[in-house]
Amino acid sequence: MKNWKKDTVCVQGGYTPANGEPRQVPIIQSTTFKYATSDAMGKLFDLEASGYFYSRLQNPTCDTVAAKICELEGGTAAMLTSSGQAASFYAIFNIASCGDHIVSSSTIYGGTFNLFAVTMKRMGIEFTFVPPDCTREELDAAFRPNTKAVFGETIANPALTVLDFDKFSEAAHSHGVPLIVDNTFATPVNCRPFEWGADIVTHSTTKYMDGHGAAVGGCIVDSGKFDWTKYPEKYPGLCTPDESYHGVTYTERFGPGGAYITKATVQLMRDFGAVQSPQSAFILNLGLESLHVRMARHCENALAVAKALSGDGRISRVVYPGLIGDKYYDLAQKYMPDGTTGVVSFTLKGGRAAAETFMKNLKIAAIETHVADARTCCLHPASSTHRQMTDEELAAAGVPSDLVRFSCGLESADDLIADIKQALDCIGK
Ligand SMILES: *Cc1c(COP(=O)(O)O)cnc(C)c1O
Repeated sequence: MKNWKKDTVCVQGGYTPANGEPRQVPIIQSTTFKYATSDAMGKLFDLEASGYFYSRLQNPTCDTVAAKICELEGGTAAMLTSSGQAASFYAIFNIASCGDHIVSSSTIYGGTFNLFAVTMKRMGIEFTFVPPDCTREELDAAFRPNTKAVFGETIANPALTVLDFDKFSEAAHSHGVPLIVDNTFATPVNCRPFEWGADIVTHSTTKYMDGHGAAVGGCIVDSGKFDWTKYPEKYPGLCTPDESYHGVTYTERFGPGGAYITKATVQLMRDFGAVQSPQSAFILNLGLESLHVRMARHCENALAVAKALSGDGRISRVVYPGLIGDKYYDLAQKYMPDGTTGVVSFTLKGGRAAAETFMKNLKIAAIETHVADARTCCLHPASSTHRQMTDEELAAAGVPSDLVRFSCGLESADDLIADIKQALDCIGK
C-alpha cells in the first residue's frame, strides 16, 4: 500500500493508468462484458474467478472510484451504490434480517430514520434509538440477544451532534457487533472512523464527495477489522455456505477484508440492483479530486458564519461543532482536530415564522433539499426533510421545529455573512 497523504489520494487514488492508457478514469459505459467460452463465464458466476460480467453487479468505472474512497477511509474493500439511502440499507441488510435488531443513535439523517423506523421495520428488523449523549449503561441496556450492529453518524445531519466513537465502538464490540458509521458530513478528509473503532463506513457521495450537486450516489467501505468468524451463529450469511453460489462461504473464500463487501455485491446488488451508473461515478471522481481543498474552505466559511451568527442578538442558538462553547466542541476536537463540516444550524428568536421570513429573503443562499454543495443553501428541516416526524421525534433527533440548517458553500465568507445580516434585517418589517 502506498503511503500517500489524503490530499494525494483524493487526486490520484484508485487509478494508476499503465503505459498509453487514458489519464482520466475511463467511463466504461457498458452493461455487459464479452467472454470467449461459457466455461470462463461460469467461473465468474461461481465466484471462482473475479471479473466483470454484468454492470448490475460490478462495473470497472464504479470499482475504480470505490477504490479511491476505500483508500481515503483506510479500508480493505468498498462498493458504490446508487444513493446514500441504498448504502445505509445495504450496510445493515447485509448482516441483519427479519427478526434481528439494531441499535442506532437517534440523531441521524431524516431519510435514514424513516428507512430504519418505518421501511426496515416492515421487513422485520427492529431498531432501538438511543440519544447520542446517553451513558454507557443506557447504551448497554439497548442491546438484545438478536442485536446485529450499532449505527451512528460522525456528525449528524442536521442535528450536528458528534458521535462519541469511544463510547459507541466499545459498547458495540463488548456486545460482539460491528459499529457502522455514516461519515457523510465529516468526509475522510476530516475524520477517518476506522481509526476510532468503527468497522463499516457509509457515505452519501451526493454531498461533499460530489460537492457540486451533480450526481446522487453512495458508498460502503469495510475496515476488514470485524472478525465475523468469532460469531458464526450471529452472522450465518457470512460464515455459512451460500447455496446461491454453489456453497461459497464468504469469510473463508474472501477473508476478513473482503467477505462483507463481496457478499453485499454478489447478493444485494444482484437482487436489488441499486447500482451507481459509470457516468455518475465519473462525476463523483471529479468531485473527489478536489475534496481536500474544498472541505477546508467549507469549514472555514462555516466557522466564520457560526461566529457571526453567535454574535447577533436576533439569533437564539447556534449549533456548530467547530465553535468554541458548542456542546460537541470537545468531541469534535478529539476526533476532528483539522475541521468538522460546512453545515451550521441555528434558531431565530422569532421562532418558526422568523425563520421563514429570514430564509425567503436570502439572496445568495438558496432554499434547497440539499447540503454540502459548492453553492450555499439552506433548509427548514421540520417542514421538509423531517416533516414526517412528530414533535417528540424531532426533539429526539435534535431538530427543533424552528431550526434552520445552513450549508456554507465555497463563496466568500464576507458575502455570506452580509447576505445573512440583510435577511435578518427583513424580519419584523
Ligand atoms: C443525504 C444523506 C443521506 C442519504 O443520501 P442520498 O444520497 O440522498 O440517498 C444519508 N446520510 C446522510 C448523513 C445524508 O446527509
